[in-house]
Amino acid sequence: MYSVESNFLRLRLMLGKDYLGAMPSWSPGKEQVQVTSYNLIMDVDFQQLKFTGTVSIRLQSEQDAVLNSAGLEIQSILLNDRPIHFRQNGEELIVQTGPFEGLLEVKYAGIIPDSLAGIYRAPYDHTQIVTTHFEAAQARRMLPCIDHPDAKAEFKIAVKIDRELTAISNMPIESVIPDGEKKLVTFRKTPRMSTYLLYLGIGMFQEQIEKLEKTDVIVATTPGKVKLGTFSQDEAKKAITFFESYYAIPYELPKIHLIAVPEFAMGAMENWGAITFRESALLIDANSTTKTRKRVAEIVDHELAHQWFGNLVTMKWWDDIWLNESFATFMAFKVLNSLHKDWRIWEDFVRNETAGALGRDCLKKTHPIQVSVKSPDEIEQIFDEISYGKGASILRMIEAYVGEDAFQTGVREFLSNHTYSNATGNEFWNSLENCSHKAVKKIMSTWVQQPGYPMLTVKVDDGKLVLHQERFLTSGATEKGVWPIPLVLEINGHPRNVLMETSEQTLETDLINSLKVNVDRTGFYLTQYVGCEDVLWNSSLSALDKWGIVYDAFAFLLSGKMSFPDYMKLLKRFTTEVEYLPIHEISDHLSLLYTIARPRISEFSAAFHRSQLGILRGKSDENGMVLREAVASRLALVDDQYSRELGSKFGEYSQVTPEMKQAVALAYARSTENYDNLLAAYRKSNSDEDRIRLLTAMTSFTNPSLVNRTLDFTLTKEVKRQDTRIILATAAGNPDARDITWKWLQQNIGKLQALYKGTGILSGTFLSTIPLLGIGKVEETRAFFKQHEIHDSEVGISAGLEKLFVYDRLAKTLS
Ligand SMILES: [Zn+2]
Repeated sequence: MYSVESNFLRLRLMLGKDYLGAMPSWSPGKEQVQVTSYNLIMDVDFQQLKFTGTVSIRLQSEQDAVLNSAGLEIQSILLNDRPIHFRQNGEELIVQTGPFEGLLEVKYAGIIPDSLAGIYRAPYDHTQIVTTHFEAAQARRMLPCIDHPDAKAEFKIAVKIDRELTAISNMPIESVIPDGEKKLVTFRKTPRMSTYLLYLGIGMFQEQIEKLEKTDVIVATTPGKVKLGTFSQDEAKKAITFFESYYAIPYELPKIHLIAVPEFAMGAMENWGAITFRESALLIDANSTTKTRKRVAEIVDHELAHQWFGNLVTMKWWDDIWLNESFATFMAFKVLNSLHKDWRIWEDFVRNETAGALGRDCLKKTHPIQVSVKSPDEIEQIFDEISYGKGASILRMIEAYVGEDAFQTGVREFLSNHTYSNATGNEFWNSLENCSHKAVKKIMSTWVQQPGYPMLTVKVDDGKLVLHQERFLTSGATEKGVWPIPLVLEINGHPRNVLMETSEQTLETDLINSLKVNVDRTGFYLTQYVGCEDVLWNSSLSALDKWGIVYDAFAFLLSGKMSFPDYMKLLKRFTTEVEYLPIHEISDHLSLLYTIARPRISEFSAAFHRSQLGILRGKSDENGMVLREAVASRLALVDDQYSRELGSKFGEYSQVTPEMKQAVALAYARSTENYDNLLAAYRKSNSDEDRIRLLTAMTSFTNPSLVNRTLDFTLTKEVKRQDTRIILATAAGNPDARDITWKWLQQNIGKLQALYKGTGILSGTFLSTIPLLGIGKVEETRAFFKQHEIHDSEVGISAGLEKLFVYDRLAKTLS
């Protein structure tokens, strides 16, 4: 799965019920029910949005069989053709089978709600598609099943639908048989797979098919959009070829669908053979920016990486979900690096994935990468920066330690050992250790089980390098902690690798003239040079090294380990910097500081962004254009004259180059406060990418009541439900509208909960908005969330409150 936060929403504003735990027999790895296959027939009423189903489950059980079922009306159950008693307990369906082996046939009925999880209705243009999203524990909303990643089975699916409609599932269609007014569409049997990867889509799909040796690569969209999937289709073909060679295992299914879903809470979902995307994560039009093309390619590659790592070989239980997600994240960048050299994609990796994870994991309220989870609410909340970005960064660190070839051999061994089955993180480390003959297990077990990460202090003492590690916390608190760190150093221009396993280590060296620790930022830790900054500046610094320097400095500023004047002194070194990566990072920091302490930063931010805009003016490469848009948008916030100039181009918005559209719309909002014209443009727009741009601009007014209007507007039918929370997060970054956005959030919290029920994604929204909205009113914010407990967002709320403390403290220091 690709959650929206992990990249798209990372504005870099740094931004129950215990169902499964209730039955001890459900702990992973101790199966008392063995399921072999499901045979499902559904009759779907597309107009009335309901369905009936009959599922025959072949299983073997040592005691009463316990299935999962949610929101379904169970009508009857037959055991080997004889009726049998059953009862429901929450989402458990307990069938009084006793020990048995054979067929359980369940007849049931269900509805298709306007939700964003399970089987649901995704509306567009006064009609809809019916679609599904089952990860983590929502397949039970379409069929009674053992809804557990370890309970792999074969699925044979058939649906009765209206004749004019199309159905898509994981496998190709085997037969279509007319049945009265309807038709029965039967799909070929799937390989053994987990329930969370099932897919069913019904609607007026338009398809575009390309052949890749044995695999059909198919884009499916609502009518009129299928051509916009061409970019993704090309990317998919190349990525499949890459993975088949990298993994040394061919793609297993005869086809792969890339499906654009009009309403989708996530970025995308890797259902085996039928990947779903929100439209803006799949479709590219003439007005799409490089940033969007990069993101779309990354998401396509991420989901395809899962077809092997996740789908073919699956984690045993959700505590290893990080293995799925971090691996897919890491592999996506590997493919991008191979297919799009000009993008210098590892720079995006550190700025998005590594920084996102460092920014999340510096809180006391974090969790280890591998985390014990039981209930669906808990599971949904761990699809976060730790499971994706930290895990992926650790994989990058370990690859740098064992070498690319040994890493690849280890991956191949792991996959071939566990095909069509389940495996744990430990088994992955075993493979990497076998193939590299290096101490992978020892390193990884600490990194995945210990929360947080270290800060390394470096001192140079003639002929000696003294290193010390402790846990880094953004609050500034000190806490002991030791991680086995595979250090990659460069001393006087010579590389040196050391495994640091203690809190303090001294290395004998020649006299040190130049020194880099954490070369190219492959390591997941911060570095503070104490009294020896000169040796750092003496070394030859790559873009990634410079990024590390500015990233760490900002983290130290937030935690109180660096003073504001020292931080500004460091930034001044970069005013005429030409490497995009550190500039983008600094621009992000200035953008956050603008939100936290505008009066102290505006002047410097204006000068910095003006200087950079001058440097970037002559650049026409794709990365340069991405940065120029960010720089122009940020300059428009702090330079009224520039804002007026740039905003005046909104009159010819359709003529503005795609790369500058966001900055122009934002500048127009700031300089004219013209809500109606932006709304009119929104209504005329026909792409999600552009609509989000315009809505983002509509949260940037200096007049707070206009921002309030925008927020109200996001709750109307004119805005996709999937996007409401994204717009809320952008509004939270506007200090002019902070109070009104906070009030709006309090008043509409019930509506937001209803909108995203079952998805767990509000957790991330709270994490990104609370630290900004609560500045200046920490106690009030705490009190509100104490009164309003939101079970599926507890993690994000408590982490958000902790981050708020840090931002508020900095706001006070700088006021
Ligand atoms: Zn994923």
